[in-house]
Amino acid sequence: MRTPRTLPSPPFLFLLFLTCIGSACRPLTKNVGPARFETGNAGLQAPKDSAAKPAWTTLYRASKPLDVRLIHTRLELRPLFESAQLRGKAWIEAMVGFYPVQQVKLDAQGFEIHRLSFRTLNADSSQAFQPLYTYDGQVITLNLPRRLDAGTRFEINMEYTASPDSLKAGPGSAAIQGEKGLYFIRPDSTVPDKPMQVWSQGETDHNSCWFPTIDAPNQKTTQHISLTVDSSMVTLSNGLMTSSRLNPDGTRTDVWEHRLPHAPYLAMIAAGRFAVVKDRWRSIPVHYYVEPRYAPQAERIFHRTKDMLTYYSQKLGVDYPWSSYHQIAVRDFVSGAMENTGAVVFGQWAQRSERELVDGSAEGTVAHEMFHHWFGDLVTCESWSNLSLNESFATYGTPLWYEHAYGPEEADAALEGNLRDYLAESKRKQVDLIRYYYENNEDMFDRHSYAKGARILHMLRNEIGDRAFFESIRLYLTRFSFKSAEIHDFRLICEEVTGRDLQVFFNQWFLSKGHPIIDMNYRYDSLRKQCVFEFRQKHSTLPGRYFQLPVQLEFYFFDSSVARTVVLDREVQEFRFDFPRPVWTGHNLGRILLCEYNDGRTFDEFVQQFRGSPFYYDRKRALEALVQNPQRFWGAWNDPNRTTDAVTYQDLIARAFRDPSPVIRGMAADAIPASLLKQDPLLYGLLMRTAEKDLRSQVRQKALLKLIEAGDSGKALPAGWLEQKIASDSSLLVTAAALRPIAKANPGQASEIAKALENENSMVGTLFGFYAEYGQEKNLNYLEKSLMQLRDSRSLRQYPNWLKDYNRAILRLNQKERGLAFYEQLNRHPSARIRTLASENLAGLR
Ligand SMILES: [Zn+2]
Repeated sequence: MRTPRTLPSPPFLFLLFLTCIGSACRPLTKNVGPARFETGNAGLQAPKDSAAKPAWTTLYRASKPLDVRLIHTRLELRPLFESAQLRGKAWIEAMVGFYPVQQVKLDAQGFEIHRLSFRTLNADSSQAFQPLYTYDGQVITLNLPRRLDAGTRFEINMEYTASPDSLKAGPGSAAIQGEKGLYFIRPDSTVPDKPMQVWSQGETDHNSCWFPTIDAPNQKTTQHISLTVDSSMVTLSNGLMTSSRLNPDGTRTDVWEHRLPHAPYLAMIAAGRFAVVKDRWRSIPVHYYVEPRYAPQAERIFHRTKDMLTYYSQKLGVDYPWSSYHQIAVRDFVSGAMENTGAVVFGQWAQRSERELVDGSAEGTVAHEMFHHWFGDLVTCESWSNLSLNESFATYGTPLWYEHAYGPEEADAALEGNLRDYLAESKRKQVDLIRYYYENNEDMFDRHSYAKGARILHMLRNEIGDRAFFESIRLYLTRFSFKSAEIHDFRLICEEVTGRDLQVFFNQWFLSKGHPIIDMNYRYDSLRKQCVFEFRQKHSTLPGRYFQLPVQLEFYFFDSSVARTVVLDREVQEFRFDFPRPVWTGHNLGRILLCEYNDGRTFDEFVQQFRGSPFYYDRKRALEALVQNPQRFWGAWNDPNRTTDAVTYQDLIARAFRDPSPVIRGMAADAIPASLLKQDPLLYGLLMRTAEKDLRSQVRQKALLKLIEAGDSGKALPAGWLEQKIASDSSLLVTAAALRPIAKANPGQASEIAKALENENSMVGTLFGFYAEYGQEKNLNYLEKSLMQLRDSRSLRQYPNWLKDYNRAILRLNQKERGLAFYEQLNRHPSARIRTLASENLAGLR
């Protein structure tokens, strides 16, 4: 499913890659309940001691029984914007499964049912009747006059009104807020010019808030949806628009047909006044729906969509299977993005102006959602317990794309971000990746399902080899096309392809919790001329049982290198190799293997590692370790005689600035002590060159921030350099970095620059911080307007920080009365979350 509202956050945020994760996605707010339990391997046993545990810990989450199987869903829908309701007619065609039934249940949340009828469709016994039914506001239960045998096809026809706003908001999840399925966006007192839109968000089981269905991921249905809206609006749904007709009443009816079966949660509708930028890939329409002002940038917002369709089709060995690939950015979306089949929804965050695009696009999220079209849409997890089959794969789709499009450095940086995200979550939550016990569907959408799962797939690929990995994927996608699957299906396919028993791998990674924690020690035994590695696993999966981990050890000599693989599977192990003394040794812990480790490296070994390793992960870890010892590393600079150390480190920093990875170049700029720049013209020159010429705006920004910091410690930038820099560099990140120093020297100019940034959505946070410190009374208008208007999921995350900045501004400007009046007004905001924050701040300010 979707990309979470919070994406993983690398230390160095690349808008290009993450949006989301800031883009898009990367989350995690909830703690797992107090009850945790070992599920061992199969995960089916309930915890033994259930007395003190919440009820959900003993409730096995079975896949929904397929007593009745959906076949086709036909809907005639008319959104009513005035009342935020949907008038609908539905024809639900389905078939009895293996066992005869006399009762049929449909999910339908918050409906008013006007009429309902039932008929069987089998040619020999077609009959229609008014069934007796009961409805509890959630589920319609039809009691049939006679038993229907296996294979009987039937159709339920109903007319209804759906009132999604009447539904109680659920808890939502890290990935998604809100559970009402259908959202009406309308102008209101806070945003009088807000465009009218309606859009749906089905995952996990919320599409039954707007059409009757069996709302489970193991169902599959084709669709025929006709959508009647004001003729000034455009519509979007899954599949192809097959007809469009104007009605005498000024409305228009568009018919969207989706002729291949998919799960009900992937159905979507949207309507509004969007610009539609049309393109094609092969014979498939590829449309971009954005607000009209973003039409010129639409293709670059959804950057490289068509290239990805080509690449994934080739790499997976299964062509993109659907009839369209459309993407839409909507207002106030409740998630980062959502992979509805052929009709992907993004939040408004994805829309970028010309200048914002200099710093990156939604590309990482585009890749994630597109990869879902194979993993999730074509082959669907049979239950939310198996969510990993959707989300782990989709998360892995992004580094796969980067690897192809930009090389291993970018892919490794994304994977390293996944590792960091999972390890951070593991401090407060450790659960099986495939979980059969959980409190709420939405609890599955955590960093385990996304980030840990992606890293597990990366390990699997490394362990069985590229060819076996992609052949397994091809076979899995082919065999389970238009079906659902569970984790064992994927394991069996991998075993079929490789001819190996992979149960241990799948049990310890997919069906257990935790990860290896390893102490590693390397020494050279000069007497026996052997390299000696000692390993100690500090975490057992079960008493006396440890992770089985194939570790690659690498031996770097002056002009060659060799690698050997050893398998860890006990608490303490030692491995010896008859080699001459290597220059340095490496390993793939962390780089490939998901674990925490301490490899006991010395400072000098990290220097060797940085200089010698071809791998991003190794170089980043080494540089991090080196600069964490500033006295030793930077201290050498102060040595007037320039010892060997200083020369070595100088060379190392120079290399860091030339590193192929922008993350490492940015780290280098970040790490230099500002005080050193005054006395080291060489370093200063490196930094100036980086600020001026680095290809990545994120790196230029880091270098610029460091130069500014150096200015504060007495090494002033050349006169006019900063002003010239921002005049010639269109990056908003660079401009934002220069705002404060310019304000100190030339407040008038800074205020003009800030004013221009008010048109850029991504600069809201920057401007809140800037106006809190340097704003004038007139700038409060911008802050208040932003607080009133922004309420998409990403903005809401930042909202408390913005309020703090707003408070700083009004107190500094002696505008307390104005602040109180504003909070009174905000206290009537349509968003309950914002009202709560407003009343808290109101009380605080009083
Ligand atoms: Zn996803």
